[in-house]
Amino acid sequence: MDIVRRTGCPACGSARLRVAFTRADWQVVAQASIDSRRDFARAMAAEPALGFEAFLVCEDCATLFADRVPPPALLEQFYQHYHGNPGYAEKIPRKLALERRRIFALKFLTRGRRFLDIGCNIGCAVEAARRSGFTATGLELDASAVAAAARRFPGNRFLVGTLETLAPGQYFDLVQCTEVVEHVPEPRDFLARLGTVVAPGGIALITTPDAGHRSVREALLEWPEVKPPEHLTLFSRAGMRAALAGQFDLVWILPNRKPGLQVIARRNRAPKARA
Ligand SMILES: [Zn+2]
Repeated sequence: MDIVRRTGCPACGSARLRVAFTRADWQVVAQASIDSRRDFARAMAAEPALGFEAFLVCEDCATLFADRVPPPALLEQFYQHYHGNPGYAEKIPRKLALERRRIFALKFLTRGRRFLDIGCNIGCAVEAARRSGFTATGLELDASAVAAAARRFPGNRFLVGTLETLAPGQYFDLVQCTEVVEHVPEPRDFLARLGTVVAPGGIALITTPDAGHRSVREALLEWPEVKPPEHLTLFSRAGMRAALAGQFDLVWILPNRKPGLQVIARRNRAPKARA
């Protein structure tokens, strides 16, 4: 199986990298944790191809990432084992309300009313968008989540798959992608593809943990978001800006007291002239 060794920063492409910490160091923290890190450490011990040797940090943009990426088939198996939605159903009303508030604010930044959620889970954001006047589509890898979404929120389109699943030529005015990019093996390619489905004049909302936040910078090893093989890339603000630079005309990273990046990226209405 082909494990991918990362020789460049997955956010900005720089080759100036150094070791942030080794697997052995992380394992001590993971095994003492009371969250999924403990199970993940065990899973990596049982299946070496899921593992990594070290987390690297980019000297140019401060993005933090696993030095190895497991083969896609193995990662898929891993998610089937470790990803249920325990207790998710009870959270639906609260989640819908939260998503509606978010979409209410974003709605003013774009005129069109085509919505896409990449990694939509059981579809709360998609339904919230529909109730806010959008024609809404949800993409999700987990087929059981898609089935649940379609049952619960039948007024929307839900597809099992990734951005590649969309027929070419589909554009959206509001593309949401929350807590997904840190999981993706090739985040720069992923964000580039995301940019291609945003309509001119449209916006994307991307959220992901913030590895550059001052509350985590001094204790990266202990940060619960350092959770391989689930989280493979932990972006910094600079890393996110670098990864989005070619795709969008304006990138706005919202202030956040918590270690999370909330990014709004916009495409100009008139396409840029290409040299
Ligand atoms: Zn970088």
